[in-house]
Amino acid sequence: MAQTEINRKVVILGSGPAGLTAAIYASRAQLEPIVIDGPQPGGQLTITTDVENYPGFADGIMGPELMNQFRAQAERFGTEILNVWIDSVDLSERPFTLNAKESADSDDITTVIKAETLIISTGASAKWIGVPGEEPAPVGLGGNGVSACATCDGFFFRGKPVVIVGGGDTAMEEAMFLTRFASKVSLMHRRGSFRASKIMQERVFNNEKIDVVWNTEIREILGTKDEGVTGVKIFNNQKNEESIFPTQGVFVAIGHKPNTDLFKGVLEMDETGYLKTEGRTMKTNIPGVFACGDAQDHYYRQAITAAGSGCMAAIDAERFLVEHGEAEKNTETNW
Ligand code: NAP
Repeated sequence: MAQTEINRKVVILGSGPAGLTAAIYASRAQLEPIVIDGPQPGGQLTITTDVENYPGFADGIMGPELMNQFRAQAERFGTEILNVWIDSVDLSERPFTLNAKESADSDDITTVIKAETLIISTGASAKWIGVPGEEPAPVGLGGNGVSACATCDGFFFRGKPVVIVGGGDTAMEEAMFLTRFASKVSLMHRRGSFRASKIMQERVFNNEKIDVVWNTEIREILGTKDEGVTGVKIFNNQKNEESIFPTQGVFVAIGHKPNTDLFKGVLEMDETGYLKTEGRTMKTNIPGVFACGDAQDHYYRQAITAAGSGCMAAIDAERFLVEHGEAEKNTETNW
């Protein structure tokens, strides 16, 4: 099969707030970046509802709408967005090589992308508890009553009781959202206090449709292919008691894992897979490769901090290209 070759000064992997902000800056610096959409174009904000803490939107904005705005702004300055699946990368020499397929399931490399600099903004994906019954159908009940996205699947649980697992802001937000549909939301947490922000906790405590089930771990998700989820086997770790809790849906909201497998053994990362960057810069251990957003930040993980780090990565990439005589100094960034 014929391969297309694309050559760019700046290639950005991932199209969430970090990637698209990097694209806005790089395209305004006339570096003609290309953004590779991931499997979830727009990133995690596309599966959330109201975003109330992104500055500039006094009344809040819906996550997907915010990401449409990011995208339109990047495209306005000439950013090209390509929807392919990156199969492998070679970062051993510059230009770096990215081998792309049409989708994760295809066999052939159809596009080879050569990048003078690479900005990694591949974000993070939902984590799973790892108990029997949670696996995707047909093995388990994933997609058949088990979900990690209330925004995507909440609608299917109209009038039904559901369980949500987690104790962070995501779990609070998803629990609130599920009350629009579910008859009852049982929020199960493995400890006796939440790590979520106070304002989110208060909303949960004040919502009559949400019951908090403390000190409880899910050990198995029960049900059948035909009936879907019928209950969960739970363990109260204070009373040392196992029991069955009837429910018709399970939403897992226990955090995220960075999408950095492509760079294992090549780029420095911590034990969870978050890419390491140097000091206050977005530089990785390979000169010319930069990382930003949730792929690199395990601490703040906010849309606004991801966007800020995307800006920094683009300025770092521009500076790198100027230092290597591959771009002209852009007076606008004024560094
Ligand atoms: P998180 O803060 O890491 O919370 C994950 C929760 O899941 C914790 O309560 C944790 O329990 C629990 N957990 C982890 N592994 C588990 C397992 N195997 N079984 C059962 N429970 C498990 O993740 P997050 O809620 O996704 O939030 C991530 C970041 O995004 C945070 O900085 C948050 O503030 C931000 N965020 C903000 C908003 C907003 O402001 N609107 C919305 C969503 C997320 P322990 O507490 O016991 O560790």
